[in-house]
Amino acid sequence: MMDWFSDLFSQCQAWVYETLVQPVVFGLGYGNLLEDAFDATGWLLVGLLQITVMLVFIGALERLYPAEPVTDRRAVRVDILYTLIHRLGLFRLALFFAIDPLWDALSGEMRLAGIETFQLDALWPGVTDVAWVSFLVYLVVFDFANYWLHRAQHGFEWWWQLHALHHSQRQMTMWSDSRNHLLDDLIIDSAFVLLARLIGVPPGQFIALVAVSQLLENLQHANTKLWFGAVLERVLVSPRFHRLHHSIGFGHETDGRGTLGGHNFAVLFPVWDVLFGTASFELRWDPTGVRDQLIEEGGRDYGRGFWAQQWLGLKRLVRRTS
Ligand SMILES: [Zn+2]
Ligand SMILES: [Zn+2]
Repeated sequence: MMDWFSDLFSQCQAWVYETLVQPVVFGLGYGNLLEDAFDATGWLLVGLLQITVMLVFIGALERLYPAEPVTDRRAVRVDILYTLIHRLGLFRLALFFAIDPLWDALSGEMRLAGIETFQLDALWPGVTDVAWVSFLVYLVVFDFANYWLHRAQHGFEWWWQLHALHHSQRQMTMWSDSRNHLLDDLIIDSAFVLLARLIGVPPGQFIALVAVSQLLENLQHANTKLWFGAVLERVLVSPRFHRLHHSIGFGHETDGRGTLGGHNFAVLFPVWDVLFGTASFELRWDPTGVRDQLIEEGGRDYGRGFWAQQWLGLKRLVRRTS
């Protein structure tokens, strides 16, 4: 099944590349970037596939079984814009050009110092080099890193000023996963590209890992009352589990000194929250947002449009660090 799918995907990628991308890139005189353009085509296709799955399946769940009524369509439209920017390659392209030179310099230094990069799939020959086993191993390693990165986003005051934008959505939907400060995206996505290179994830597997994780993250943000039942809730993060993380005054509060409170920081596997004492499996669907947005708590403005949100995020950051 996985082989069949990856064959089909490669064929699509080759076709779009040869008929559309290659002639344009060549015509513009960027023949030296053809290899990068091929990778970019792959990411673009993955993004389109993700958005199709979202519209067809997750969208249906939101309509059939919503957690709350949609009263603020404009807030949802801004999140759709975030999703298009983040998933359809514009952001990835920038990242690619930012990370690649950095990585080349770093790995050159490491080679000079005699440090080899680690090949995680070579750990147990015959087992960890089987495609689906290595895929699961990478998924777990990435998710562990994700849990701690997410806790850091809440634990460091300066980082929270950026991540608060993600939490300021009071009308949460499947599009809200991508609602992040671009600087926050840059830090998190860079960390994952570097981690992938450090443990030797092959490019094809990396694309699949990112695609699967992101789709599950879209599902978790969906405006739906879906939960997975007492057992599966503890295996995979559900919309109910993640909505609790967004719950005002419960999911993500710090006491102002950077000390962590809050629940449900895991991205895919709730086991990290169970192990590190931050899990909550309560069946409740609270309003989402940040406490200081409430009128009685000062009514802080996190911005309505894309640029306002980005600008206010930078201002919060500067005020905290200066
Ligand atoms: Zn968070
Ligand atoms: Zn979230």
